[in-house]
Amino acid sequence: MGACLGSFFNVCIARLPKKESIIFPSSHCPKCNAKIKPLNNIPIISYILLKGKCKNCSARIHWHYFVVELFFPIILILLFNRFGNEFSLAYFKYVILFSFSIIIFFTDLISGIIPDVLSIPLIIIGILFSLFPSSDLHIWGSLIGAGFGFIFFLSISYLFYLVKKREGLGGGDVKFIAAIGSFIGFTGVLFTVLVSSFTAIIFMLLILKYDPKKEFSFGPFMVFGFLIYIIFGEMLTHSYLMLFGLSF
Ligand SMILES: [Zn+2]
Repeated sequence: MGACLGSFFNVCIARLPKKESIIFPSSHCPKCNAKIKPLNNIPIISYILLKGKCKNCSARIHWHYFVVELFFPIILILLFNRFGNEFSLAYFKYVILFSFSIIIFFTDLISGIIPDVLSIPLIIIGILFSLFPSSDLHIWGSLIGAGFGFIFFLSISYLFYLVKKREGLGGGDVKFIAAIGSFIGFTGVLFTVLVSSFTAIIFMLLILKYDPKKEFSFGPFMVFGFLIYIIFGEMLTHSYLMLFGLSF
């Protein structure tokens, strides 16, 4: 199931930044337009059998097709395990968050775009989930999380623009952190901002060799940040409080 969903997300990753329909036309090679036969469209397996090339014209198939089909099932297993090995409300809530987020991760990484058609509905879905009585986050928690994330990133974006006269943090990032906040609340946003900023700084120092002029996408770091929060957050917060002799 995860690999098949991943296969659909790949279509979104390829087409949403170009504002193309995700339903029509059916799967085709972007170079020679040859229709992809069902036998060559099996998640994970076809990519390996075709050695990452179009059967008709040998054009390279982007690596995201393979990576998403491989990693989305792993995320589903991690979430299932994290939420008590049952199909609970929390499990479905986070499956939806990660379905949208894995698309955002790659559209931002590859095209530098976080599509509004994903981030804005995600804010609303997060708030709607908090209305269930058995939700892990209360409606106020969801609204405060979304509002705090939005205002916090909007302020940084505005201040950066005032000082540097160019865009530092895009509007896509501001809407995406609001969506994250509506799912995991105030503490979750703080944790996500902290982890994603530190990993982005390390990435900038090691990979970009500290070149402030080089631009890079922040979205993937945010996804990494809240993945860590959702899977290990409770454990990490507990160990952190234990350092000060506190426990809960
Ligand atoms: Zn082709």
